[in-house]
Amino acid sequence: MRFTIAIDGPAAAGKGTISKAVAAHYGFAHLDTGLLYRAVGARTLDGTDPIAAAKGLTAEDLEADNLRTPEVAQAASKVAVIGEVRAALVDFQRAFARRAGGAVLDGRDIGTVICPNAEAKLFVTASAEVRAERRYLELVGKGTEIDRGTVLADVKERDARDMERAEAPLKPAADAVLIDTSDLAIADAIAAAVAAIDAVRPTE
Ligand code: C5P
Repeated sequence: MRFTIAIDGPAAAGKGTISKAVAAHYGFAHLDTGLLYRAVGARTLDGTDPIAAAKGLTAEDLEADNLRTPEVAQAASKVAVIGEVRAALVDFQRAFARRAGGAVLDGRDIGTVICPNAEAKLFVTASAEVRAERRYLELVGKGTEIDRGTVLADVKERDARDMERAEAPLKPAADAVLIDTSDLAIADAIAAAVAAIDAVRPTE
């Protein structure tokens, strides 16, 4: 059985949490595509050329322990504007999407560019303030010293770069189901995602 679920949206909207839960619910494999861009971004911090890093991305790069830092998030969104970087990552993502047994991919351009024919598409969003507060609590929980204002500015800067770039900008696919998680508890956001997917899933 091949079934692709594309989940897009801005930073800290809840995509990751929803994607993991949806993958577990259906027994599908999950790919966090942001991790690919983060791994390329992390490589550029030591001076590596971003296109060379994307073309030669290794499993080890994906296991670096700094991939979740704000510094790497910014570097990721900077390399993500480069067409050749994006192109180098397409085949891997498409092969993952069509693997037997079903796949969930989350990112910014899954429903629009990587898998325009995905069987199910969701666009998960929330206000910038709510997303920044979630990211702030997550970073503080990990022991990062940072203030709320910096996190909000970071989120807004990354949103602008992701939405305004020429290549594969962040936007909902025309046929995506929108889920705004600003006022939703996690369980309710997951339930909304499962309901939207069940509505297009063939019954056995
Ligand atoms: O999702 P995450 O916050 O980990 O993504 C980091 C950055 O990678 C995003 O800000 C975006 O610029 C880029 N990205 C992308 N396309 C994707 C996934 C992530 O451009 N499919």
